[in-house]
Amino acid sequence: MNVLLIGSGGREHAIAWKLAQSKDLGKLYIAPGNPGTAKCGKNIPIDVNDTDKLVDFARENNIGLVVVGPEDPLAAGVVDAFEAVGIKAFGPGAGAAKLEADKAFAKQLMRSSAISAAEGRIFERFSDAKAYIASRDEPVVIKAAGLAKGKGVFVCDDPADGILAAEKIMCDKIFGPAGDKLIVEDKLLGEEVSILAFVDGRNIYLMESSQDHKPIGDGDTGPNTGGMGAYSPAPVVTEDLMNRITREILVPVVDGMNRNGTPYKGILYAGLMITAAGPRVLEFNVRFGDPETQPILIRLKSDLLEVCLAVCDGRLDKVTLEWDQRPAVCVVMASGGYPGDYQKGKRITGLNEADRIEDVVVFHAGTTVKNGDIVTNGGRVLGVTALGQTVADAKARAYRAVDKIKFDGAYCRRDIADKAIKK
Ligand code: AMP
Repeated sequence: MNVLLIGSGGREHAIAWKLAQSKDLGKLYIAPGNPGTAKCGKNIPIDVNDTDKLVDFARENNIGLVVVGPEDPLAAGVVDAFEAVGIKAFGPGAGAAKLEADKAFAKQLMRSSAISAAEGRIFERFSDAKAYIASRDEPVVIKAAGLAKGKGVFVCDDPADGILAAEKIMCDKIFGPAGDKLIVEDKLLGEEVSILAFVDGRNIYLMESSQDHKPIGDGDTGPNTGGMGAYSPAPVVTEDLMNRITREILVPVVDGMNRNGTPYKGILYAGLMITAAGPRVLEFNVRFGDPETQPILIRLKSDLLEVCLAVCDGRLDKVTLEWDQRPAVCVVMASGGYPGDYQKGKRITGLNEADRIEDVVVFHAGTTVKNGDIVTNGGRVLGVTALGQTVADAKARAYRAVDKIKFDGAYCRRDIADKAIKK
């Protein structure tokens, strides 16, 4: 079967790498892809948001399955467009993608399905939001309701900073229309984990747990980023906790989406805070996380193409996921200056030496080819991912690979997975 994968980040390189191992794969195309995905299939220069061109390409190239990586095309209805012409597409339709694309929708769904989340209120006018925030003396979390590339959340220990954040989102429109509605939430304390599951509208199949590292600096300091590294599994998620998350969060969401007339299929990603009172939802995403996908998929032994097809056909209860029991660690190498301004076009060396280390895969994210060289082309450049007998071993192996890779201004956190090692 020919497959079209949409996206160009580290997540998509990991998905392409895994799809390329499928026994049923014919040709793999990636739109637009990156130099890493080019080693797994053929990159096609079509933008992820150019739905018409993507559909034309799929029809002309006998595509049997489309796998969508990022959230923007999902929210815009790319899955509905493929299904309208009879092509299977892995991911939710636009109605169900609102679970991520509209945090106000997600909050209402959680409320009506009795799912535990941070207490929060939704505002459509800045004056109302301001009055509410000013009335509080506890820390607040301010969120743009729409898609803001993971940057639309401000955790404010001082409510006065919360008002400034609300003003930037609602009045200055720093995230455009994503800031038409605002969520003000209580700040939760605890350890964060990401739980990803395959969902086929009815059945839920959990993947192994993982943990991301959002802040730029060691010890979780500095501003939030798209994610500076991840490991899987996350020891904080015991079997009991996993059962509780399934029973109290995932099953009610999938039921709630059915009741709402927007059945859910694809990847359901729950970003959770494990508080003293139990798991609480911070957000839902409607696709694989980046960089959690890298350590999760390097551990998946089963055929990803087969699982994606089972999701599209509503027969997830017929597949079994098998996992490598060894833990995995992914360290993100970023351009100096990220998440602020950074330069592009820096030549990257040492990639092959790093890739040659046993049980290491270097996933490309923000890279491109210039005059025959691989050069930097984004904030997060590479996701250096390793398996190991223990988390400490996986970490050591990942950093050994990182240290082989050089580019001007390269930056990475040095403490990825330390939380798991301490446990
Ligand atoms: P979100 O995109 O909603 O997951 O938010 C991004 C990041 O902000 C999360 O990964 C958390 O680190 C933090 N965050 C979001 N909501 C809360 C909350 N209610 N309490 C504490 N931290 C939060």
